[in-house]
Amino acid sequence: MSAPRHAATAAPLHYRVEPADLNAHLWRVTLTIAAPAAPQRLSLPVWIPGSYLVREFSRHLQKLVARQDGKAVPLHQLDKCNWQAECTGSTPLVLSYEVYAYDNSVRTAWLDRDRGFFNGTSLCLRVHGQEKREHALELIAPEGTEAPWDVATGLAPAKVNKRGFGTYLAPDYDELVDCPVEMGRFWSGEFKAGGVTHRFAVAGAPASFDGERLLEDTRRICESEIRFWHGRKHPPFKQYLFMLLAVDDGYGGLEHRNSTALIASRRDLPRQGESRASEGYTTLLGLISHEYFHTWNVKRLRPAEFARYDYGHENYTQLLWFFEGFTSYYDDLFLRRCDMVDDAGYLRLLCKGINQVLQAPGREVQSVAQASYDAWIKYYRQDENTPNATISYYSKGALVALCFDLTLRAEGRTTLDAVMRALWERCKGGPMTEADFAATLKDLGGRSFSREIAAWVHGTRELPLEDLLKAHGVNVHRDPAPLQQRLGLRAADGPGGVQVKTVLRGGAAEAAGLAAGDEWIGVEAGGQAWRLTRLDDLPLYAGTQRKLVALVARDRRLIRLDLQLPAGGAVWRLSVGEARRVQAWLAGSD
Ligand SMILES: [Zn+2]
Repeated sequence: MSAPRHAATAAPLHYRVEPADLNAHLWRVTLTIAAPAAPQRLSLPVWIPGSYLVREFSRHLQKLVARQDGKAVPLHQLDKCNWQAECTGSTPLVLSYEVYAYDNSVRTAWLDRDRGFFNGTSLCLRVHGQEKREHALELIAPEGTEAPWDVATGLAPAKVNKRGFGTYLAPDYDELVDCPVEMGRFWSGEFKAGGVTHRFAVAGAPASFDGERLLEDTRRICESEIRFWHGRKHPPFKQYLFMLLAVDDGYGGLEHRNSTALIASRRDLPRQGESRASEGYTTLLGLISHEYFHTWNVKRLRPAEFARYDYGHENYTQLLWFFEGFTSYYDDLFLRRCDMVDDAGYLRLLCKGINQVLQAPGREVQSVAQASYDAWIKYYRQDENTPNATISYYSKGALVALCFDLTLRAEGRTTLDAVMRALWERCKGGPMTEADFAATLKDLGGRSFSREIAAWVHGTRELPLEDLLKAHGVNVHRDPAPLQQRLGLRAADGPGGVQVKTVLRGGAAEAAGLAAGDEWIGVEAGGQAWRLTRLDDLPLYAGTQRKLVALVARDRRLIRLDLQLPAGGAVWRLSVGEARRVQAWLAGSD
């Protein structure tokens, strides 16, 4: 397909994006600024909202040149992601560059023979001073593909062909980069929820994929979440798009205001002829529920610090326990409310999160408010010490939501559902602070909850989970802990020995002197010595012996470590005690 040489629209900023070289994974971008400043500053974001890590997308940008009236314009690079074009303000400034795209995550960009995907944060230079003006994005179809490609994006089409190639418009830079673009040969289907068309595009699906089932299950989740926030009224968007990339092994999602990009394992897709939901498919539905809930909780109702994104630096907030944690509480709760899991199944999902928190020594070191603030250098930069030093604002944040919900329900004045809706009203679906949350709790709950906020959000003491769950008809059991937890380590089996990944604070492995990176290659017990390549073989060789010697290779040295195997350790298991009470909680309150 030949490309128009001039903008199809008269937008002040026009990005022409073409898949320039599929085999080299290169996008070519031509940015035309109708009325540039003299000089004109430009930059590429260092992060993408929703994923709190400085990723420095400009490291994949190359061959940047600027021209005006066909003549080269001097371009000065100011730092790793800022440039200045020494242009005049009299005629349009044209910038062209390439972006290397070979990361199939939802956060950056991809291009190969099968598929193209990008976030504007990876491809679209920000034109300083003109961020609030209309941005046009012109998508060019690739040449030489076996079959013609289609496009899916949440951007508003201005002039596009039946496959979706052509020009889209965004009222400002924020919306441009909040609408990722998928292109290629993908499965696509639609449904209506809350009176709004929702499209689902799935790339990489095998022939067994049951698209109709995915549409129907997603529709039920969407209806349920729209009703949660707005009752019978329409949701605050005119269309919505799910983009799912199915791969051999992967999991994740990134939320946007009217779309989401997801990645999941092909094995987790629903299959034709199967009506039971596999554990993997339930996980995928949980991810869909999670990202869709973000459409309200973080993309509209959002931290006051995110009122305007600063694309050049970390944007710090203490509130991710609310925006990620509460979203994590509701994602699986909606699966229960939509009857996709039963009460026992829901409690299994909940208990997984509880055990994750209880097995992380870092919960005694870091509060969820601190974990939120440090997301940029801790949660998103995990290492062998992460479980000892940090707590997940997802897992513990969800339990904080659970504690508030169960406390409010026990006191009988309100529920967390009502608090969420009142917060939406109070903050007009926009920026919020912790004080807004506290005030809404007080308004609806009839008392101050500052003590709970201090303890659960800003403190590191254990949450009162057991009492609250029991009060709502849930039985809490303690099962013997798995071997890794008893030992206080995380490890993977390998042909050369057991590879120690993490040594947990205060555990038996730490007391023995084991360290992350060790190869645990043998064990001495009861006067015998054994080669160890599977950790699960340890009880076979140790029997009832509690005193062992671990033979460890560290930096090629062989070390003998005295290891005292502890007896105890437990993991939680939840079961339905009083069904009526459990149902009163899980059925919701609308
Ligand atoms: Zn999330």
